[in-house]
Amino acid sequence: MDWSQVIGQERSVRALRRAVAGGRVAHAYLFHGPHGTGKRAAALAFAQALQCEERGPGSGDGRPCGACPACQKMRRGVHPDMHVLFPHPKGTSEEDRAERKELLSQNPYAEISYARRPSLSDPSDTSNKQALYSVDRVHEELLRPMSLKPLEGRYKVALLTEAEQMHPKAANAFLKLLEEPPPQTAFVLTTAHPDRLLPTITSRCQRLRFSSLGPEALAGALARREDLGDERAQMLARMADGSYTRALDLATSNELLEHRELVLDFFRQAYTQDATRLAELSEEIRRLGRERVKGLMDLMLRWVRDLLLVRSLGREEAPLVNVDQAEAAARFCENLPQADLGAMTELIEEARRLVGRNVNLSLLLTALAQALGHAMQGRSARLYVPLPEAGLPNAA
Ligand SMILES: [Zn+2]
Repeated sequence: MDWSQVIGQERSVRALRRAVAGGRVAHAYLFHGPHGTGKRAAALAFAQALQCEERGPGSGDGRPCGACPACQKMRRGVHPDMHVLFPHPKGTSEEDRAERKELLSQNPYAEISYARRPSLSDPSDTSNKQALYSVDRVHEELLRPMSLKPLEGRYKVALLTEAEQMHPKAANAFLKLLEEPPPQTAFVLTTAHPDRLLPTITSRCQRLRFSSLGPEALAGALARREDLGDERAQMLARMADGSYTRALDLATSNELLEHRELVLDFFRQAYTQDATRLAELSEEIRRLGRERVKGLMDLMLRWVRDLLLVRSLGREEAPLVNVDQAEAAARFCENLPQADLGAMTELIEEARRLVGRNVNLSLLLTALAQALGHAMQGRSARLYVPLPEAGLPNAA
């Protein structure tokens, strides 16, 4: 992991390189900012720069040489003085954790979090298991190794991702180590929720902020690293909400494009009100399950937002999420100038809220299609869905 692998975040990278070059490395850092913005990538580059054997003390530009044995071991994720920790649920296997570390050393933006990706082999698994740092693990994998002298490196470095997930006892044990850190140690904590850490821990860390990545930076990185075509890179970048990890997820799964096809079809059928096709489509969507239906409704909202952009800025100027659908969006705006896009947004938002309650999804989708059809005609539209309280037995 070299600094060149970190996307954007110039200010934080500069500060870290200066610290390495000047030999003024803090004992502990807190990298905070949204998910997927490069906190782990920067931590791994920083650690490699610290371990590099060719780096003269207090000189250079804070860049690892990339060729010495330490650099090579760091790159392969096998340096004995580098400890990568992440919270995991009870009962996970050693192999599974090793696989996640391996993934991380291949690509520091890979999704390895147990909370977000409970199963590596099945990305659709959304079972929500609580992943924590237990006090036993903190003793065994952090306190013990970090209290010893480096085995062969210049430093002992520990990276703790999702650091807010420490059991209170674990946090207190870690705090003791942080209060009297052994020499030649560096801790890097990463978190998207700095407010959930003990203030006594954060106050001992040097804080560096990682901000959301802009669509241009994301699209550039997708094109360069993943070899994606320009149009696809632009689209994924705009859907990734500032996170390269999410952009990668979108790039590697067909689900997104499949779901978008469903969305476009749903809007078409909402317009034509073909009852048979609508029933089939609603059934197909319903079978995806509630979480994915919510995601699908997010895609609906993005589509309506694109329509708004085309209407207000014109096809050429509009920074569309669905860049490849500019033609379809322009056609919609031309053919349906009376469509009430504001009402359509409200209807979808309302439907999305209802997905979280125990309503019958088929009924909800049918009602949504009907109301959207009215809004497209510029007629007033309301979403009428019987709530479970009204006595719907088999809500599914
Ligand atoms: Zn080196």
